[in-house]
Amino acid sequence: MSSKSPLQLLFLGTGTSTGLPLTPCLTLSQPYPEQFTSHVPLPAPSTEKAGWNPDGPWPNNIPCACCRSAANPDVPEGWKNKRGNTGVVARKKGTDGKWRNLVVDVGKTFTEQARRFFPRWGVQTIDAVLLTHGRESPNRRQGTSS
Ligand SMILES: [Zn+2]
Repeated sequence: MSSKSPLQLLFLGTGTSTGLPLTPCLTLSQPYPEQFTSHVPLPAPSTEKAGWNPDGPWPNNIPCACCRSAANPDVPEGWKNKRGNTGVVARKKGTDGKWRNLVVDVGKTFTEQARRFFPRWGVQTIDAVLLTHGRESPNRRQGTSS
C-alpha cells in the first residue's frame, strides 16, 4: 500500500470509556454515586457557566456544563461534547486510489460514531481492526461464563 498520499487520522471519539454526555449527569445523579467519584473527576456544579438553572427544565438543570451543553440542542457548540469513547480510523490511499482503512479500537460507541462519521468521511471499507487493549467481561470477572 505504498503511495504518496498522506496518512489521515480520523477521530471517532475522544471521550471517556462510556462516551459523553455521562449518564450520571443526564440523570442528575449529583453528587456522583460513590463508585464513580474516583473515576469521574468532574468539577462540582458551578454557576460560572451560563445556562445552568438548578430549578429549570431539563437539560438546563444539569449541573455539569459539559454534559448540559451536549444535551441541549439550543447550544450551538454542544455537538463538540457529544463524544464517543476513544477510537480512530487511520487511512491511506493505495496505488489504486482507494482508501485503506484501519480502525483502532472498537468500543461501546463505535456503531454510533460510524453512523455519524463514516458517511461524512467516505469510509466505505474496514480493512483491518487494531485493538489496543481488551475489556474483560463483568461475568468472567465474577468467575462465570457468558
Ligand atoms: Zn457531565
